[in-house]
Amino acid sequence: MASIFSRIVKGEIPSYKIAENNDFYAFLDINPLAKGHTLVILKKEVDYIFDVEDVLYKELFAFAKKVGKAIETVIPCKRMGIIVFGLDVPHAHIHLIPINKASDMSFDSPKLSLENEEFLEIAARINQAYKENT
Ligand code: AMP
Repeated sequence: MASIFSRIVKGEIPSYKIAENNDFYAFLDINPLAKGHTLVILKKEVDYIFDVEDVLYKELFAFAKKVGKAIETVIPCKRMGIIVFGLDVPHAHIHLIPINKASDMSFDSPKLSLENEEFLEIAARINQAYKENT
């Protein structure tokens, strides 16, 4: 069965899209640790990120870097936190989380509860910054 992220890529499930190209797709995490918390995924469904072939693996991180820089221009932060879990969704993805201190990356912290309009607004602003920078 297709992963939930493959269904997002196909447009079967809605997402707050940030950016995409032929191989990769970036969208807001619906349970964000911070405003701008974004997931960067491979369109091709591969479960474990270390099983992604080397060229795509490098390109995934290069794409995530561009997305992360766009997030930084919209959500002021000290650093862009980068983390890979993949414990819930078996489809390789990178979390990009704007942080000011290490504890901002704790997945034990309560998640933000944002309204649809706020997700839409954040996604549109980051998408605009991404387009201006690429
Ligand atoms: P993990 O696989 O442990 O990296 O966690 C999966 C992440 O995907 C969690 O942070 C979820 O909030 C997020 N997530 C799951 N379903 C969706 C969805 N439909 N749209 C956006 N984010 C999602």
